[in-house]
Amino acid sequence: MMMATPLTMTQMIKRAEKYFPKKQVISRTANGIDRFTYKQIAERTRRLADSLQKLGVQKGDKVGTLAWNHHRHLEAYFAIPCSGAVLHTINIRLAPQHITYIINHAEDKVLLIDSDFVPLIEQCKDELSSVKAYVIMTDDKELPETTLSPVYHYEQLIEQGSNDYQYPEDIDENDPAGMCYTSATTGNPKGVVYSHRGIVLHSMALGMADSAALSEKDIAMAVVPMFHANAWGLPFAGVWFGTTLVMPGPNFTPKILAELIQQEKVTFTAGVPTIWLGMLKELEEKEYDISSLRAVLCGGSAAPKAVIRAFEQKYNIPFMHGYGMTETSPLVVISTLKSYQEDLPYEERLDIRAKQGILVPGLDIKVVGKDGEVPWDGKEMGELAIRGPWIASEYYKDERTKDAFRDGWLYTGDVVTIDEEGFIKIVDRTKDLIKSGGEWISSVDLENALMAHEAVFEAAVVAIPHEKWQERPVACVVLKQKGQVTKEELMEFLTPQFAKWWLPDDILFLDEIPKTSVGKFLKRALRDEVQVKLQKN
Ligand code: ADP
Repeated sequence: MMMATPLTMTQMIKRAEKYFPKKQVISRTANGIDRFTYKQIAERTRRLADSLQKLGVQKGDKVGTLAWNHHRHLEAYFAIPCSGAVLHTINIRLAPQHITYIINHAEDKVLLIDSDFVPLIEQCKDELSSVKAYVIMTDDKELPETTLSPVYHYEQLIEQGSNDYQYPEDIDENDPAGMCYTSATTGNPKGVVYSHRGIVLHSMALGMADSAALSEKDIAMAVVPMFHANAWGLPFAGVWFGTTLVMPGPNFTPKILAELIQQEKVTFTAGVPTIWLGMLKELEEKEYDISSLRAVLCGGSAAPKAVIRAFEQKYNIPFMHGYGMTETSPLVVISTLKSYQEDLPYEERLDIRAKQGILVPGLDIKVVGKDGEVPWDGKEMGELAIRGPWIASEYYKDERTKDAFRDGWLYTGDVVTIDEEGFIKIVDRTKDLIKSGGEWISSVDLENALMAHEAVFEAAVVAIPHEKWQERPVACVVLKQKGQVTKEELMEFLTPQFAKWWLPDDILFLDEIPKTSVGKFLKRALRDEVQVKLQKN
């Protein structure tokens, strides 16, 4: 038998301090760039852990964070779970009533808040039932004026905390380490609790050569926010591996991201497709040297083929498509080619890699159709179900658990096909599929085709109720330049690519597509907007 040493996160920060004290965390602030070594980060993390305990945070208590991606947030990422408490990352873009709900539902005892979000929490404070202290993260020496109370300055807590603090040794690998709420279509957000064990194993998966292959040699920049599924686990894995981390800080733009990649020679970066669409536009307008990138990881919604092609062919940067959910830590499948697929013509390789990919080692999936598991033929659609050690087994204190978790599997609500090689393709979210005359139309496929047109910046397709067909697709398009292409020309462009009944009934030109709090197309709002527009016409 082998030793059953616990898989806890404490080993991650300890390893960074011991083996990589000189490596850096580079953090963009509102005023410039801060550089901290892992030696400094590890010391500050211990001091923070000590101070939080002195504020009354005990084992199992939840500590909420409302913050951008920066070194202080990273310190909280370790100080909280390594001291036995639970790191609750809160999505700063949610509506105040949802923020109030999740802080109360999680029973956060302390909140760590970027000064930018103090006004937001002031709006909620009278209804917060569990919070005992507010800690403000700011570059300024003084605290901002606030009605929050009692309020502490993060840097003062770092100064006052003891560097002799020792992380407790009695943390069980199955103890909660983190939590994150995911937005629900209707009703309140749903909470997911991550265990130490899940985070450690998920981090290992990020380091595997056939997945993200994150390593000490990388300079990694998570553009995906630290409040969105733990920035896809990159801060955890990065610290453990001694990776140089670049944190893009507050209110970043494509220009800021391109400059950071150029200046800091970023090798690996990760974010949702809308980030990369914006980046491509910036790169077209101005020249940057982004040749240091060895890979761009993209997930959260389907990466348009045109984006993959542009990064690879125009900028010679490998593009990795992956799929996951808040409930899955998030990495589940990633699109790396098998060795014998490498010799296929580029278009065929692109087709494979535009799929979401194959299962990472450690997990198990199945695709369930009307009559049980679907065949691996790339055609028949079914719902993706997942299980494994970094997959949630329930929603936190939520009766909606029974809808998604059945017989030891998480049912994702994503409709997919699986091909002969095991590559998963997300056809749509169940709720976004267009049900036309008893058949299904994938909004994702239509969007991808439209975004491959050179005049198109963004495209989203939604279902509109129809008397005869039940639902019909309508496309919403944002052009790179107004008037560059007509509706008829776009229809002509789509026609040879789809069966006739798949073609959208209408194409509307918009100035902007509404986005969710994590940068995905907000189909619900778009549907309403389209209906109003169509009625007016
Ligand atoms: P939210 O529900 O707030 O969007 P998540 O980020 O957890 O929160 O979303 C997970 C969902 O995002 C998945 O269920 C799936 O529908 C979608 N998704 C994630 N990655 C991809 C991808 N690569 N392609 C298509 N859809 C994706």
